[in-house]
Amino acid sequence: MHVTNKTEHDPVCDLDFPNAYMRWAIMAVEEIAGKHGTAIILREAGLERLIDNLPPANMEFEGLKYSDYSALNQALLNFFGRPAKTFARRIGRLSARYSIEHESVLFGFATTALKLMPVNMRLKVALNNMAQGFRKLAARVGQTLDLRVYELPDKFLYVSYTCPVCNGRLADEPMCYVFVGTIQEGAAWLTDGKKFRVVETHCRATGDPACVFELYKTPVQE
Ligand SMILES: [Zn+2]
Repeated sequence: MHVTNKTEHDPVCDLDFPNAYMRWAIMAVEEIAGKHGTAIILREAGLERLIDNLPPANMEFEGLKYSDYSALNQALLNFFGRPAKTFARRIGRLSARYSIEHESVLFGFATTALKLMPVNMRLKVALNNMAQGFRKLAARVGQTLDLRVYELPDKFLYVSYTCPVCNGRLADEPMCYVFVGTIQEGAAWLTDGKKFRVVETHCRATGDPACVFELYKTPVQE
């Protein structure tokens, strides 16, 4: 997979991106790629100002844009080459773990009531809480995110018309592996470590109007 820039401007690029999500993404990249690799990736993404200078762990908006986050994703997918998908999913899982540790209240994950629900209900409520959490955050700076959650008999769909991972990018196949990892980690956390199949079936980077992530209801047997 090779990721390039779209020639026409993507308005999603201009949305504001909170400090902490960038911090956790870079920390996750560092765990996988090491300090040196991370510096190369950040430079490639045009984010050299963040080398050894991570944004603080807060939900403030201080100049980072969605396009910075997608530039980071573009750079890391291009950096890793063939195993990029696996690494990107792992980076997504690690970022999600930092996020769950710090922001569980925002996303309603911490509620003990959630863990008392049947598994499918937990997944459904958590996906909706996550979308709602992102929307609330963006609303603080007057921005609207188009995120939708649907339920089918065998799976849930998380549909993002304002995807932070791939805005402004072009790819020959769906590229939002970090978000696949994020959903997998969230689902595992909610179900005491169960593993769920998550597939990105549509991607804005391949010309679709939205990125679509399918989360299957039945855990993978191991
Ligand atoms: Zn995407």
